Amino acid sequence: MKRISILGATGSIGQSTIDLVARAPEDFKVVALTGGRNVKRLAADCIALGAEVAVTAHDDLLPDLRAALEGTGIEAAAGVQALIEAARRPADWVMSAIVGAAGLAPGLAVLEEGTTLALANKESLVTAGPLLLETARRTGARILPVDSEHSAIFQALVGEDKTAVSRVIITASGGAFRDWPLDRLAKATVAEASSHPNWDMGQRITIDSASMFNKALEMIEAREFFDFAPDQIEVLIHPQSVVHALVGFCDGGLMAHVGPPDMRHAIGYALNWPARRALPVATLDLAAVGRLEFHTPDLMRYPALRLAREVMTRRGVSGAIFNAAKERALDHFIAGHIVFTDMQSVVEEVLDALCDAPEARNAGLTLDVVARMDHLARMRADQVVSARKT
Ligand code: NAD
Ligand code: MG
Repeated sequence: MKRISILGATGSIGQSTIDLVARAPEDFKVVALTGGRNVKRLAADCIALGAEVAVTAHDDLLPDLRAALEGTGIEAAAGVQALIEAARRPADWVMSAIVGAAGLAPGLAVLEEGTTLALANKESLVTAGPLLLETARRTGARILPVDSEHSAIFQALVGEDKTAVSRVIITASGGAFRDWPLDRLAKATVAEASSHPNWDMGQRITIDSASMFNKALEMIEAREFFDFAPDQIEVLIHPQSVVHALVGFCDGGLMAHVGPPDMRHAIGYALNWPARRALPVATLDLAAVGRLEFHTPDLMRYPALRLAREVMTRRGVSGAIFNAAKERALDHFIAGHIVFTDMQSVVEEVLDALCDAPEARNAGLTLDVVARMDHLARMRADQVVSARKT
């Protein structure tokens, strides 16, 4: 029986993980589930799965969580420190599915314990890739990628010699606005940006898909996790979203990973790894799909991809700056302070301002350094936005 915990259990990836776990209760013992404001969902899942402990990120919600768990014997806790303690509880496998930079410290704590980390939280690798990989090397912990493109690359590399890889291609649906005329993008509403043509995901990653910041994060994630050179990482728009990634080898062969757009495949692959087990995903009917299209992304439409190349080359703290600026720009777009197309220019301005700042130079990548750069980048993004408003 595998002892598992799910960080970010109430979100889109968390709920898909729970769906898989609930289908095979005899195979799993649930240790900890964590969530944010939705303590009802968190408590209900903890009760249904017989978890040991429930943790909400918000201190003020502890009384509600306690009330919802009363009489069950399930422990309740709240706050950032409690999240990290939950991540450290002895387990065999932990899903990292908190959204944003908040997922870094708990995921790192899992690796420090030597526990296998199923990593959906791409921001961890973007902000602190070398720190994560070095910690995993030191403790012997394994990181299993859950982002669909990275799971696809991981699967295509099974049994291969990595030195024979010449390139990887990660695909992008093109998001909600791929067919919009460029001059209409500035008028895109939050609701329009929050609906994805192919994937059903949390709101933030869905908007990041429309702006292609999600793909930008994934390029950096691929660079950090697989250690490919920036010029080996390509992106193609693939509107059908059934080819998730391709790995190209020195002999000209390309191994493509093909499957329906259902995150339960990548989650289930990580959950059962190294075995493969049947999963509740639809059988792909390629004849019904009919056509597979691939296009080169237009960098005018998707400037985030250009910024990702800069970050991949700079490395160091630039990933933490990029991600934090992006998170803050997204907050401001959702709050109605800036328009959709402003997000990229806010991020670019913050990157330009901070990447060469004294604080960023020679800064070794520790959790404290990442947190400091993250904080500075958020403050700078706020300043850039308020300067534009006045
Ligand atoms: P979501 O918004 O649906 O869920 C996020 C989870 O994190 C929730 O449980 C929420 O309560 C929790 N959370 C939010 N802020 C928190 C904080 N400050 N501290 C602690 N917990 C917090 O997000 P999602 O779509 O499930 O994505 C989760 C992660 O997986 C993201 O990093 C995303 O990029 C990545 N990912 C998601 C998908 C997808 O299909 N949804 C695919 C690939 C990768
Ligand atoms: Mg992805």
